[in-house]
This record gives sequence, C-alpha cells and structure tokens, in this order.
Amino acid sequence: MEKALIIIDYTVDFVADDGALTCGDPGQRIENTITQLAKNFLESGLVVFAVDVHEKEDPYHPEAKLFPPHNIRGTKGRDLFGSVKNVYEDNKAKDHVMWMDKTRYSAFCGTDLDVKLRERGINELHLVGVCTDICVLHTAMDAYNLGYKIVVHKEAVASFNQAGHEWALGHFESALGASVQ
Ligand code: ZN
Repeated sequence: MEKALIIIDYTVDFVADDGALTCGDPGQRIENTITQLAKNFLESGLVVFAVDVHEKEDPYHPEAKLFPPHNIRGTKGRDLFGSVKNVYEDNKAKDHVMWMDKTRYSAFCGTDLDVKLRERGINELHLVGVCTDICVLHTAMDAYNLGYKIVVHKEAVASFNQAGHEWALGHFESALGASVQ
C-alpha cells in the first residue's frame, strides 16, 4: 500500500490570528501534529502541500460571493503557517514532496493531483489541514469517488465552525468509509 499525506490549506490566511479567513486557535493547535505527521511521511511516503490560490479581485470565482479575499497569489497570507512552512522549506527539493496549487475546495478539482498519485502507485490518502468541513471534506469526497482509501487524522484537522468540524468527522466515516484516527 503506497501512501500520501495531503496537507490542505495550512496557510497564514487560514490559521494565523491575523489571517484573512482564519480558523484561529483550533487551527493553531494542530500545527505540531501536522508537522510530526509530515516528518513521518517523509520517511516512507509522499507529502503533498495542497494550497488554495486566488487571483486579486477575481469577479468570476464563486468564492468571491462567499468569503473575504484570502490566499491571494504572491501575498504572505498564502505562506504555509509556522513549523509546517519549515518542513516544506527544508524538504521541498525532494522528489516525494509536492506543492499543489488548487483554486477550489477540493485538491483534485482542476489539478493533476490524481495523475500524480496514480503514477506513483498511491492508493491511500491521509488527510490533514483546514477546514475540516470545507476543503478537507471536498477533497475527501473526490478521493472517495476516485476510489482511494481515506484516513483522516482527527487531531490534525480543524475548522472555524466546531459543529461543522464534528459533523464532517462523522461523515468521513459513515458516508466515505474513511478511517478517522
Ligand atoms: Zn479559497
């Protein structure tokens, strides 16, 4: 079983106190767990940093009506947060570390993530990051439809919406057959 860790949207805008669309404290509390998981996966698997990117004042993007501007290309808000940034910077030259820009909630939508995973024989995805009930959820749904085995690390996902977070953890197991651990 080949495995990949998908670290979703763990950026300044989504996690820092002054982030544009921040999860705040729940997001900051998962930093060390994500970093440790990334270090573990660097030993034996693929680590993908799936990161939202938006263009400044893009009137066509559906999120423009839903959320304040966030993760704008070229801004500090799109930097990875805290020690997760360090793990990326220290290891980005390795061929089992991958940066994946995405423009929608799911890391699969409009990207070549599925192709990259399949060419490496990966069939098990471990999902971490934010937000549990938005980008992690939509990535998990696409992974389910594409036939991947899914593991969600509950100490390494977070949301600004605690009720949504808890609902999504249940949905991963009950509807997507994921292992939530
Ligand atoms: Zn976005």
